[in-house]
Amino acid sequence: MTKIPKHPITQTVQAGLGDDPAYAAVVPPLYTSSTYLWDGFEQKGPYDYGRTVNPNRNILAVALAELEGGAGAVITSSGMAALDLILNLLPPNGKVIASHDCYGGSYRLLEARAKQGRIVCDFVDQTDEGALAALLKKGADMVLIETPSNPLMRVVDVAKIAKAGKVAGAILVADNTFLSPARMTPLALGCDIVWHSTTKSLNGHSDVVGGAVIAKTADTAEELAWWANCTGVTGSPFDAAQTLRGLRTLHVRMDAMERNALTLATWLYAHKQVERVYFPGLKSDPGYALAATQQSGPGFMISFDLKGGTDAVAKFVAPLSLFRLAASLGGTESLICHPATMTHRGMGEAAMKVAGIGAGLMRISVGIEHKDDQIADLEQGFSAL
Ligand SMILES: *Cc1c(COP(=O)(O)O)cnc(C)c1O
Repeated sequence: MTKIPKHPITQTVQAGLGDDPAYAAVVPPLYTSSTYLWDGFEQKGPYDYGRTVNPNRNILAVALAELEGGAGAVITSSGMAALDLILNLLPPNGKVIASHDCYGGSYRLLEARAKQGRIVCDFVDQTDEGALAALLKKGADMVLIETPSNPLMRVVDVAKIAKAGKVAGAILVADNTFLSPARMTPLALGCDIVWHSTTKSLNGHSDVVGGAVIAKTADTAEELAWWANCTGVTGSPFDAAQTLRGLRTLHVRMDAMERNALTLATWLYAHKQVERVYFPGLKSDPGYALAATQQSGPGFMISFDLKGGTDAVAKFVAPLSLFRLAASLGGTESLICHPATMTHRGMGEAAMKVAGIGAGLMRISVGIEHKDDQIADLEQGFSAL
């Protein structure tokens, strides 16, 4: 049988199918066993202990590595566990450069590790080439990229930053949670490592908390797997099986969410009660041209400034019934979040101000419901103002 080269869409649907060595199950069975038999004295089989290796994690890791174009992957218990795992690659006092408007939890973790004296971390506006170049000049061990940024959807030039970071001798790391490999593959743009909160669009059904780290080289993948086993941050078999199930529909979900997001962003842009829309799929967005070159679509996340600040926010969210007020994103259902009091609260007011996260800023994760219902729901919120 000749092996047919597979399109990523086919890869996500077919990942791990028909490989069950026990009963020839089409869909991979769930292996919950914490331990595995040895073949004999000093003869270890491919699986020995569940923290170290597990078939369900392995199938998901192979699928994600294939999609991202990496040599290997590690499946972790959360996105934050994935980031913390990556930090193990740093030397003592390793210099990290992160984006000033990165995911709030990433900001908190980096700051906490810096306070402990484990790393030194600088947060910078990565759209400001001069500021980034000045920091890189002082030397860097790791550069963390997140694009588009959360919650302001700022787009940074991944290939350009990767190139500059390499010259400075840094490991280039991208958080690809927002776009997923269905829209961008940072390894192809020059990064060394990609990580995900699989909690979001990879699983896509808001019923798993998980993470993944994908490495470009087998050496880095092996080093990450060593640390994951050492520190015990690997994910559960059930979560891996659920995530693989979700992954099969990644492309159709992304297409549907993005189509709705384009409609909603255009509608919000024209709305008189909206101050500003942040969405790289709009021609008016400062990230539009760059996004068009490095990603195959704008994604499904939209932020917008409500006129009227905090008072308006309370009134706006009260009547919503389809856009539920909750953190997280990337599920089939639409969600709305107020970054200043929810996802980014831990950042502190001063840092939020620097990042440009205002009191009236709302962030929506656009789901796959019908767009007319989504618009009608948001209109209820506007009517309450
Ligand atoms: C949610 C999220 C994370 C953190 O992942 P968890 O699974 O919640 O630990 C990191 N980065 C981005 C962009 C996220 O949206």
